[in-house]
Amino acid sequence: MSLDNKFDVVVIGGGPGGYVAAIRCAQLGLKTACVDEFTDKNNKASLGGTCLNVGCIPSKALLESSHHYEQLNHGLDEHGIKVTGLKIDVPTMIKNKDDIVSRLTGGISGLFKANKVTSFHGRGKLLAGKQVEITSNTDDVSVISADSIILATGSRPIDIPSAPVDNINIVDSTGALNFDKTPKKLGVIGAGVIGLELGSVWNRLGSDVVLLEAQDEFLPAVDTKIAAEAKRQFKKQGLDIKMGARVTKATTKAKKVTVNYEDASGEHTIELDKLIVSVGRRPNTDNLFAPESPIELDERGFIEVDEIWQTSQPCVYAIGDLIRGPMLAHKASEEGVAVAEVIYGEEPEINYDVIPNVIYTGPEIAWVGQTEQHLKSAGIKVKIGTFPFAASGRAQALGDTTGMVKIISDEETDQILGVHIIGAQASELIAEAVLALEYSASTEDLALTIHAHPTLSEALHEAALAVDKRALHIP
Ligand code: FAD
Repeated sequence: MSLDNKFDVVVIGGGPGGYVAAIRCAQLGLKTACVDEFTDKNNKASLGGTCLNVGCIPSKALLESSHHYEQLNHGLDEHGIKVTGLKIDVPTMIKNKDDIVSRLTGGISGLFKANKVTSFHGRGKLLAGKQVEITSNTDDVSVISADSIILATGSRPIDIPSAPVDNINIVDSTGALNFDKTPKKLGVIGAGVIGLELGSVWNRLGSDVVLLEAQDEFLPAVDTKIAAEAKRQFKKQGLDIKMGARVTKATTKAKKVTVNYEDASGEHTIELDKLIVSVGRRPNTDNLFAPESPIELDERGFIEVDEIWQTSQPCVYAIGDLIRGPMLAHKASEEGVAVAEVIYGEEPEINYDVIPNVIYTGPEIAWVGQTEQHLKSAGIKVKIGTFPFAASGRAQALGDTTGMVKIISDEETDQILGVHIIGAQASELIAEAVLALEYSASTEDLALTIHAHPTLSEALHEAALAVDKRALHIP
């Protein structure tokens, strides 16, 4: 093998786990290559993985566009702003989303160049002896090798046999980012984070949206008080969320989708223009390693790793959506940095208890730490403070007073154990709570911290005061 084909580290997968790992390895002076197979709509290589190409970024671009539209349509009356002749140009909105994606994915190519990461476009497969076979999209095969290998191939949508995706009428999350016009009637199978976000985009633009969720509990990972408020708000917006609804069959004919589902009240049939299947994601392990170079998977199909993210093969690591833990871009990136540092000989740690979660609907939902129901079922005695945005001067000025901040602290030690926010800018406000939990802050620490007035962040301060029943702006 020539020197050009031999690396210190080869990363397979160029998403937020893989590309960040590759950059950090290169920063540490390791000769690094990254192999990624993603090809965009124009058949060009595009780094950034699911997150940048078909996940976090494009969905947030569409949420932002649809939020502007909705505001102009309904949301600015009390500001005295009246708009007539409002129209949505869906192809322009989609192009804006595509332009944002290509600026960001192009930025990663630039970062690779600046950091001297060698980029290979093709499908990577782990062979024995820490070699990686790369198959290009013209089926050319080459082999590179490394002392350490990082698997970061992410995840893909789960298919369900009752609703086969054709990406025309029945689409997955990627298809739902590329409709050429607003569907009149849109169905979403799965009322989880992605289903709610994508359903919200098209609902804001005028679709009648029905979400069919097989589980009985709405957003089970979310604090129950916040989930109940979210459900109430979504219903008000016209999202028709059917719980305990199990899809038995979805067929398409003449550009219409017929969906059969059953729930507690019996069997039902609905007719839709488009159906999004959004029932979760599974790790991309198919054909990732040769039979002579096996890697152990856990019972759910994720790659098994130890506390330094090492797989069943020495010096072969795995990160991101491929392994246990929340399927989130920032979790993948943290693991990418950590593994690079492990390879370099350091002993990094990740605090998995303090990973923020966000649902970018309107209102946004964000939380960090434990929920009240979880803490109570674990027998931990807690004290709770809540503060409604309706009592916030800034929220009033914004014209968006939906939601609240809820802080849960240990009854004895006062340590903050969970912070839950539903409301405008929750995705930004949660950062303060993340820092508080990372530093094991007490409610008193947060109560003693001066917050600028008037800001939405004052609701965090007031919720901290409310934990000890001394909030100033609620009766
Ligand atoms: P990925 O981003 O999936 O990247 C893996 C890369 O590896 C891909 O480019 C893939 O093509 C490539 N690959 C796969 N197999 C091979 C192979 N054999 N050889 C070479 N390359 C290969 N998370 C958030 O934190 N915030 C959000 O707002 C958010 N929104 C989302 C919205 C949607 C619609 C979706 C679908 C996901 C969203 N996520 C969000 C989840 C987030 O995208 C993932 O958690 C994150 O991308 C995982 O990063 P990763 O690096 O593990 O894998």
